[in-house]
Amino acid sequence: MKILVTGGAGYIGSHACVVLAARGHEVVVVDNHSNSSPQVLTRIAQLTGAPVVASTVDLRDAVGLARLFAEHRFEAVMHFAALKVVADSIARPQEYESNNVGGTASLLAAMKQASVSRLVFSSSAAVYDATASIQVGEDAPLGAGHPYGQSKLSCEHLIAQQANETADFHAVNLRYFNPVGAHPSGLLGEDPHGTPTNLMPYVSQVAVGQRARLPIFGDDYATPDGTGVRDYLHVMDLARAHADALDFLVRERRSLTANLGTGQGVSVLELVQAFERVSGRAVPYDIVARRAGDVAALYADPSLAQRVLGWRAELDLEAMCRDAWHWQSRNPQGYATS
Ligand code: UDP
Repeated sequence: MKILVTGGAGYIGSHACVVLAARGHEVVVVDNHSNSSPQVLTRIAQLTGAPVVASTVDLRDAVGLARLFAEHRFEAVMHFAALKVVADSIARPQEYESNNVGGTASLLAAMKQASVSRLVFSSSAAVYDATASIQVGEDAPLGAGHPYGQSKLSCEHLIAQQANETADFHAVNLRYFNPVGAHPSGLLGEDPHGTPTNLMPYVSQVAVGQRARLPIFGDDYATPDGTGVRDYLHVMDLARAHADALDFLVRERRSLTANLGTGQGVSVLELVQAFERVSGRAVPYDIVARRAGDVAALYADPSLAQRVLGWRAELDLEAMCRDAWHWQSRNPQGYATS
């Protein structure tokens, strides 16, 4: 199938491109490179053995998007392009509304215009009310505590509206928990700009010597060791779920919203210890104050994805840490290393 991958140069989009190509799909990347390096496209090409067709268009550029849809006959769209930093979204809520929700609205309009009827959407566990449940199924209370999560929820609503209004239009919303790790080759990985806000890239940068010490945001939560518990899942498992979601759309011609996680809670200290074990490096840390907005524990009930998509996470915490370390040690400064 010929698939448009928005945000295909980003962390998750790039891994998805490689998995889709391995399944015989043809991918076309659209990315405005607001948070990604064009260098990623060369790395994807190295892994797939073919040049990547890519276009530098902002999704809010309706004319640019219409041109792209006129140039190619897409059979499906995978939509990853978005701003994704919670703290940044609190500082710049309008940007998140404009980029994430506006970009999705524009993409949906272009799909409608071109009669493209299959969409896999990169949603997030951030749409849930994290204060209401610890292990969340898809029917858990919604209500994001920040503009980033709210923007993902608004996108899901726009998508549902298009599905209601347009015969044959179907979408899969994939609500990711905490994606981590990297392509096992060490060629693709997570490359945050500036100080990482997520745990795994911070740990990796401390291990490689880019940063001195990891701040651990609180050790007095009601969890077994007092540190926050999350559901980390390997980005390669996550990428595979997107290909499975596409198969589902072709097979079942209906829409779906599904969590993607391992269903296992892992604490900050457990992750740090696993990382030290596989990397052989020390990760010195300081226990500091809790981070505003954090909850003690949040992990997925991923049983729907297993039942309906036939997907389950296969790679364990050790593989996540090993591949994150392989990526970081080969690319100490991320894509800027080369
Ligand atoms: N965390 C931490 N230090 C950091 C970054 C994160 O202790 O530098 C903790 C955070 O408090 C949470 C867990 O690691 O318990 C995962 O945080 P992340 O930001 O990666 O994901 P999210 O909070 O969005 O689930």
